[in-house]
Amino acid sequence: MFIKKYLTLIGIIGCFVACNAQEKSDTTVFKVNKTETEWKKELSEEEYYVLRQKGTERAGTGTYNHHEVNGVYTCAACQFELFSSDNKYDSGSGWPAFDRPISEESVVENKDSSHGMQRVEIVCSNCGGHLGHMFEDGPRQTTGLRYCINSVSLNFEKKKKASSGEEK
Ligand code: FE
Repeated sequence: MFIKKYLTLIGIIGCFVACNAQEKSDTTVFKVNKTETEWKKELSEEEYYVLRQKGTERAGTGTYNHHEVNGVYTCAACQFELFSSDNKYDSGSGWPAFDRPISEESVVENKDSSHGMQRVEIVCSNCGGHLGHMFEDGPRQTTGLRYCINSVSLNFEKKKKASSGEEK
């Protein structure tokens, strides 16, 4: 009897520890932390809807959907570098698509079970702003991944030529 009670207690403690560990791993601390009131002031209505409320822009309406200029795509909320034009491709989905972020540290992946789907949400690793989702139907010759990103969540900086500083 004593052993049974002891084992039950161990089980309860084990579950408690495991549940807490799970919660901790889901809580990413971002460098840029602002209140929702501050974000509302800084962002346009559409930017706030997508970046802070995890909304989605209408397919085929985004500024960068068919944007083919060399440069870097940054976070529209915090200007952190997120994607390079070198990794952009036309997925035909109606949203800008990249086969990888500019660096492994630039984005964070979250599990997203909303709308009855199991998806991987992609957020900016600097401010936590919602960018879009990642799917495993990208170009097979490279990563096989498709980072499907809202144009609204991005800004763009044209690449400058290193030697002369002249814009491409
Ligand atoms: Fe950001």
